Amino acid sequence: MGAMGDRFLRAGIVGLGICGLAGCGLLPPTTEAPLVSSSALSSLPPCVDDDCNCQDFRDQASAQIVLEAFPDDPFQLDRNGSGAACETLPLTALPADPAVPPSQSPHLALGNPSNAGSGNLNNYLLERSQYALSYNRDRGTANWVSWQLSADWLGNTPRQDNFRQDGGLPTGVYQVTPNDYRNSGFDRGHIVPSGDRTRSVRDNTATFLMTNILPQAPENNRGVWRELEEYSRDWVYQLDYTLLVMAGGYGEQTRLAAGKIVVPSRLWKIIVMLEPGQTLSDIDEDTPVVAIDIPNRNTVQADWRTYQTTVDRIELATGYDFLTAVPTPVQTILEAEAANLEALR
Ligand code: MN
Ligand code: MN
Repeated sequence: MGAMGDRFLRAGIVGLGICGLAGCGLLPPTTEAPLVSSSALSSLPPCVDDDCNCQDFRDQASAQIVLEAFPDDPFQLDRNGSGAACETLPLTALPADPAVPPSQSPHLALGNPSNAGSGNLNNYLLERSQYALSYNRDRGTANWVSWQLSADWLGNTPRQDNFRQDGGLPTGVYQVTPNDYRNSGFDRGHIVPSGDRTRSVRDNTATFLMTNILPQAPENNRGVWRELEEYSRDWVYQLDYTLLVMAGGYGEQTRLAAGKIVVPSRLWKIIVMLEPGQTLSDIDEDTPVVAIDIPNRNTVQADWRTYQTTVDRIELATGYDFLTAVPTPVQTILEAEAANLEALR
């Protein structure tokens, strides 16, 4: 990338300040003025903080917004110079599925981000005692998984390592097998980590169903992603917090298994942190919410804090609506800002 690209990327890093780096203090201050204002960055998808590619966008319209915010096109979204970004993408995303009745599952206490139900095989709700997820037949992966993590879920069960196809999918949906990832160069990356379900063999085994697995770049899975998993579990082990976690992937960098499995180009996670004794009704504008969005690549920074963003920006990139169970005024505040991690410790 040339000097111009570097300048734009630096602007993106400055942009991270909007989501709390002033508080985190993790990146060195830069003396360069951002080329895109902080308020503009807050309404752009997370990829502008590192590197956007056409494969990161759901539709042409969202790529076009980034191109218009960066008219010199540092991300090369308009290679043919036509003024239109990523012309091979569908013009607009499919409309959202209609609202579904609220679930009693503790894993969906914050809401159902995509209105997953039984009517759309690309947004198919699977509820288990260990987690809830929206499955996407055409991608061969979950759209998102949502799970509660408290000390109750943690025990001494060793990792079962019994990856296997998910017989809970409806008829007509291909059941991805562990072998579909073989020799692909991608790990079978857990969405709900094995280490979050160690109370019983049954619970741990549920994390090895292939519906809870994404093709994940090995360095990402074993490095930055794992660090965040361990960081979040520490809040439970050491401080008895209850976490409400949602995670998934979006975008398409390639496909595996003769096209049956999409490798997401980006991975995201949202963690809502409840103090001991707090319940859903205690969520207020001071509740810590950690939101990250990371390229699904081997070349990633080791520190997950580098990838901190806001829920709003993940909503923009994915099209989902998170935290719908939180009253709107609080939801609006929590989604617009990133947790001040320094203040948390
Ligand atoms: Mn993993
Ligand atoms: Mn929301």
